[in-house]
Amino acid sequence: MTHQFDLFVIGGGSGGVRAARFAATLGAKVAIAEERYWGGTCVNVGCVPKKLLSYAAHCHAEFADAAGFGWTVDGSPRFDWPTLIANKNREIERLNGVYRRVLSIAGVTLLDGRATLVDAHTVRVVLSDGQEQIHTAKHILIATGGWPVKPAIPGAEHAITSNDAFFLRELPKRAIVVGGGYIAVEFASIFNGLGAQTTLLHRGTAVLKEFDHELGPFLTSEMAKNGVQLAFSGSIARITKSGAALQVALQSGAILEADCVLFATGRAPNAHGLGLEAAGVNLNAKGAIEVNPGFQTSVRHIYAIGDVIDRVALTPVATAEGMVVAHHLFGNKARQISYDNIATAVFSHPNVGSVGLSETAARAKAGADGVTIFRSTFTPMKHSLSGRSEKTLMKLVVERSTDRVLGVHMVGPDAGEIIQGFAVALNCGATKAQFDATIGIHPTAAEEFVTMREPAA
Ligand code: NDP
Repeated sequence: MTHQFDLFVIGGGSGGVRAARFAATLGAKVAIAEERYWGGTCVNVGCVPKKLLSYAAHCHAEFADAAGFGWTVDGSPRFDWPTLIANKNREIERLNGVYRRVLSIAGVTLLDGRATLVDAHTVRVVLSDGQEQIHTAKHILIATGGWPVKPAIPGAEHAITSNDAFFLRELPKRAIVVGGGYIAVEFASIFNGLGAQTTLLHRGTAVLKEFDHELGPFLTSEMAKNGVQLAFSGSIARITKSGAALQVALQSGAILEADCVLFATGRAPNAHGLGLEAAGVNLNAKGAIEVNPGFQTSVRHIYAIGDVIDRVALTPVATAEGMVVAHHLFGNKARQISYDNIATAVFSHPNVGSVGLSETAARAKAGADGVTIFRSTFTPMKHSLSGRSEKTLMKLVVERSTDRVLGVHMVGPDAGEIIQGFAVALNCGATKAQFDATIGIHPTAAEEFVTMREPAA
């Protein structure tokens, strides 16, 4: 049977766009449908605008730190949220255009509209102007990403998610950010840096629980120094609105007041209403599309990648998965993706960077006594003059029997930039002796990773 397209991609986010573009470059006839915004979460309501807002929030500290270096900033610096958001929106629109252009140049058919599966080879697209189209494809790729979830508590409708935070009309004077993951610590840092009185409210006792256990507590103690109020072991019973203010009643009976409550309480795979049942595509218990190691769903010619399969919800992982699918289907050289040693950064203030195993995971692998820890905490050189009391943490997790470095972790300025290179080293199986034999760059914070001689007690 002949089909209109070799590949139909549902979802124009990082993963879908990469797969569509490479498939077309490899000679396939490809269509891609996107109902909301080209570039998906990362470009529109995730990594990119978040980092721009994070830069803006960092400026606050830069003004304060400048005095120690001899600068006088006349008057108090003023911040204008609408200017930041307008400039951010302009940049995102530019990127939306870039995404459309690279797809068009590659020869991909772009469809602005919502696509649903009619059956295992047929896709219905309702275009943004209301027109309906039916397309058939030999292969289908679902790359519909994820969506933030709010807990089902009374008054949750008064709270926002990260999707809304990028489009607030004004910066809240008082913000409560709920959660203890990436998004919570990033937005708490952004709101606080921009001047909002900010509370991070988390039901647990430490943030970033997926990371090495030392990073979360170290980060929150630095965030507290920067002015973020931390409320641990706190769960919300209900939110009520009174005028412009929100009253947040905790289960403990305490009441907090804020102008904005942001739920950063996780994201769910965007797998509903796609007609997956009609096509016979199975979901797993978490509502994510079930795939085999080759990203094939229960219907073998339908593939799924990215946040909708809920493996590792990171943009570069989705794009790598997209490349694997494109090359598997249309290339002559198979590609694979390794989920080991995926470096990641959290753009909190200060940043967190991490690659490889946490101390706990390393001890589980190598035995409780099979691991040596190297740790360093120090004041970044810049703060010898700025007067800021911020500290940096660096930690190496080393396997005793092989001397291999299993984990590299950091909380401190530019942690994300610094960790990327160490991910290459870990992928090459670097040993602690090789770290030690590497000449450092002086004076940097990063050199500390190659000069840690004494194991931690
Ligand atoms: P996470 O899954 O990382 O964290 C969710 C947090 O919300 C956890 O602390 C969790 O608590 C808490 N939580 C969950 N349900 C509730 C509830 N009902 N009431 C109160 N608290 C709750 O989600 P995020 O939303 O922060 O981020 C989603 C994913 O997006 C990340 O895992 C990451 O993969 C990706 N991301 C990556 C970024 C980057 O690369 N810099 C930036 C932002 C997102 P508990 O620990 O108790 O379960």
